Amino acid sequence: MATTSDERRVLEAVPRGVLVGGEWGPAAGSAELAVEDPSTGEELARVADAGAGEARAALDAAVAAQPAWATTPPRERGEILRRAFEAVTERADDLALLMTLEMGKPVAESRAEIAYGADFLRWFSEEAVRIRGSWSVAPAGGSRLLTMRQPVGPALLITPWNFPMAMAARKIGPAIAAGCTMVLKPAEQTPLSALALAAILTEAGLPRGVLNVVTGSDPAALTQPVLDDPRLRKLSFTGSTAVGRMLSERVAGNLVHVSMELGGNAPFLVFADADLEAAVEGAVVAKMRNTGEACTSANRFLVHEARAGEFGRRLAERLGAMRVGRGTDAGVEVGPLIDAPGRAKVERLVADAAARGASALTGGHRVDGPGYFFAPTVLAGVPAGAAVLDEEIFGPVAPITTFATEDEAVALANATEYGLVSYLFTRDLARALRVAEVLESGMVGINRGMVSNAAAPFGGVKQSGLGREGGAEGIDAYLQTKYVAIDA
Ligand code: NAP
Repeated sequence: MATTSDERRVLEAVPRGVLVGGEWGPAAGSAELAVEDPSTGEELARVADAGAGEARAALDAAVAAQPAWATTPPRERGEILRRAFEAVTERADDLALLMTLEMGKPVAESRAEIAYGADFLRWFSEEAVRIRGSWSVAPAGGSRLLTMRQPVGPALLITPWNFPMAMAARKIGPAIAAGCTMVLKPAEQTPLSALALAAILTEAGLPRGVLNVVTGSDPAALTQPVLDDPRLRKLSFTGSTAVGRMLSERVAGNLVHVSMELGGNAPFLVFADADLEAAVEGAVVAKMRNTGEACTSANRFLVHEARAGEFGRRLAERLGAMRVGRGTDAGVEVGPLIDAPGRAKVERLVADAAARGASALTGGHRVDGPGYFFAPTVLAGVPAGAAVLDEEIFGPVAPITTFATEDEAVALANATEYGLVSYLFTRDLARALRVAEVLESGMVGINRGMVSNAAAPFGGVKQSGLGREGGAEGIDAYLQTKYVAIDA
């Protein structure tokens, strides 16, 4: 339930239907899906609960729009993205409030995400006009080799609830820039931000059928006709490793291009020579951004044994002082977890660590309230084998464990099936570079707790995914190379 007139206004401004071929319409039978405020558990709004019929229609629209969109001048594609960037930036306060309502993060963090998401629109508006091919003389002479980069074709984009705007913009931006049409399926818990973004792109002049959006409560049934259709040429998924693996297998039969941004288990290494104040600041950002519900969230704090006591005390002081509450309230730094199962998982991991001998330096328990709150928690003395070190926590819990040598630190850091991001703190440049080279992750933060940047290639190795989003590589995921041999 919206409690203020601003909340009601931003909720009412969002289109609630499915977007197919440029028209907003209801789901079959006017089926609806309720969107909840995770800080109260109350219903905020209803959106279309679409099924296979709407999804098939959305793909039909994307397929129909593909040829004309592929030949639309790159400058026009870029300018649509630029106008959308400007509109998102102008409406940042409203979009941030909307995101906080459906997802729970504090408004200041939602504003940061809106800026981050908008940055993908701007970045790819600039990339649209820099799609290049090549021309060369065949090594033996006699012919010329021409290559051109062309859109891969209609894409299905599936996004998670934790960054409802940025994850959509990070896929829609390069798809538009490359000349691909698409069907977007946002997470069922946070469809409103994606619907608001779609409305902005439509206003910015995106032609009908280029972006189609379907929302629904049964993701398997909703995506099935799209995934099984040979006209689908690209799947870009952000979400859990289990679902990503399953979807990759699913589309393999049609040899669909896949991009997978999956789960993480980021190690946060603090060496004996680290600037401890900077390490604690970095830890607060790497752990508490999005209440720990981020694929990039620091999941294991590996601290040199000589500094672990002080690091733990200082981190506990910072986390223990953070204000927990509804993200719309002034001064709140930590919002609720997304839902009851999300909080139950965090409770299970903390209880398991405690049973194995870990101690809570702060927190360790849920916070009362109608929403799904959990106290910021620091766990010291977490032994190997504790589930909290192996599983993605997705909550405000910082487990600390120790190492004695650099080799041991690297071995512990790499002892996971995941490989999205790692963080390391040291004053020794040679060590920083040496360790960054051997960490098995797609990204490394050196003396900083955040790596995300629209101009950088985001992505993982091992079970954290395939492909990169953002940076110069981001548009590649939506392009394929054609080679033309010329007799000359
Ligand atoms: P999830 O359960 O895998 O869901 C992600 C998306 O997939 C949602 O839209 C979901 O729809 C959809 N989905 C679920 N089952 C499906 C199926 N059988 N067929 C088709 N679609 C299906 O993940 P989540 O809990 O929303 O998100 C958290 C996960 O995302 C974490 O593991 C996190 O690390 C990862 N993540 C990764 C990155 C990255 O860039 N590497 C970024 C953010 C998050 P419903 O909402 O309807 O279930």
